[in-house]
Amino acid sequence: MHPGTQGGGVTAQPAYKVIIGMEVHVQLATVSKMFTGAANGFGGAPNAQVDPVILGLPGVLPVINRRAVEMAMMVGLALNCDIARHTKWDRKSYYYPDLPKNYQISQYDQPLCGAGELQLPLPDGRMKTVRIRRAHLEEDAGKLLHESGAAESLVDLNRAGTPLLEIVTEPDLASPEEARLFGEELRRICRYLGVSEGIMQQGHMRFEPNINLHIYPEGSPEGRVVRTPITEIKNLNSFRAVERACGYEIQRQLADWIADPNAAAGGGKSTRGWDDDEGVTLLQREKEEAHDYRYFPDPDLVPLHVGEQWVAELRQGQPELPIARRRRYEAMGLSVKEAASITEEKPIADLFDRAVALGGPVRRVTNLILGSGAKLANERAARESRVYLASDLAVTPAQYAALGRMVEDGVISASAAATVFDHLAENPDADPLAAAKELGLIQVRDAGQTELWVRQAIESNPQAVTDYKHNPKKKQASLGFLRGAVMKASGGKADPRLVGELLEKILNTAE
Ligand code: MN
Repeated sequence: MHPGTQGGGVTAQPAYKVIIGMEVHVQLATVSKMFTGAANGFGGAPNAQVDPVILGLPGVLPVINRRAVEMAMMVGLALNCDIARHTKWDRKSYYYPDLPKNYQISQYDQPLCGAGELQLPLPDGRMKTVRIRRAHLEEDAGKLLHESGAAESLVDLNRAGTPLLEIVTEPDLASPEEARLFGEELRRICRYLGVSEGIMQQGHMRFEPNINLHIYPEGSPEGRVVRTPITEIKNLNSFRAVERACGYEIQRQLADWIADPNAAAGGGKSTRGWDDDEGVTLLQREKEEAHDYRYFPDPDLVPLHVGEQWVAELRQGQPELPIARRRRYEAMGLSVKEAASITEEKPIADLFDRAVALGGPVRRVTNLILGSGAKLANERAARESRVYLASDLAVTPAQYAALGRMVEDGVISASAAATVFDHLAENPDADPLAAAKELGLIQVRDAGQTELWVRQAIESNPQAVTDYKHNPKKKQASLGFLRGAVMKASGGKADPRLVGELLEKILNTAE
């Protein structure tokens, strides 16, 4: 962010600040649609999940889906939003072939969820507050299919009428990375709440960043501030696209301003599409205003009154959210990164909690889940080309707890635990201790036997011994190397603590 000039008369990049607000559409995973009993879900034969309401046939009447309202309130509560006690439905009028009624039922001026905020953990450990402006319920449109070379386009109305929660933030995001992190955290929250599976490839969540720059031609915010026109990037359905599209748009707005400071500083909003292959945004249209949609209250639907009791029950039933879990795990001694990894998927966090509740030592259970568990799950995911989590393995919380205790008590080494773990994953009902015995992995704490392995390792690695004794810079590394050599010589059965003691003792006395 430094003003100034570069050589050759080229204008340098001015100081500037990035301003990003986000609109997110989340499809709610209800059994039926927003205003009718037709099935809600991805896939299926085209136009199989429709009924007269979805088709907008004459004489049909919409009925509010209670579960969709509840799910919307659950997200609202998780985002600390004010839940409206009174809300209504509005028609947003526009004609498009994927919207047979010619209007979308939405909520215009009385959203179900009002102002709130999301605490966003940043990679450096800081927290950022992202204010939520509102979140309202509406229905999704169908899909048009334009097959290349075909004379006509096709319409599939399976998606039409799917409950959508539209979440709008204040412009608090200050970089493409923050925009992506916000999306990822929101997805985690929705998955924890069970209101969405958050499968991006199926369009469960769509992101629309609104972005502009505050440019400081005099070099700092105290001087003149130029605001570039706001652009909205439509329909991004991956986190990578969110980050890349925002990054592109920043550079494009900056280049526009540098090329012509007067033209690029005017007001006006516009809508742009993202071309993922080319990595560019393209102008779609100058942005429409709310009055273009001719919003008016839907006469077919009653306003919604939300009782205190209903909200209280939902609040009561809220699960512990990802951010609360991360903090709890950090307080238990996990690093920021470990806490984030365990929390990423709720089934894994649940597995961790259960294993610890059954007496599993926190450190050992963490290592087993993020080490052996993650490794084996990743192998299976790759082999079976599907999502496969450590919690999908046959290893139970009780087995994690027992295995963790065995390592903690020095019954087996950590590397032996990895072998026993793989055995348990293949033999679901096996007893961890019996398995360790059967595999010959019970740690040998016999000093005489251990000393033999130590001497064997010292003899076969003279260079490491020399480094340990005469090269202070390599002292620690060679000690670690020798310790590994002893463990290897013992077939993983030596007690690491005893190995460490004997190794140092022998190295420090022997010539
Ligand atoms: Mn919308």
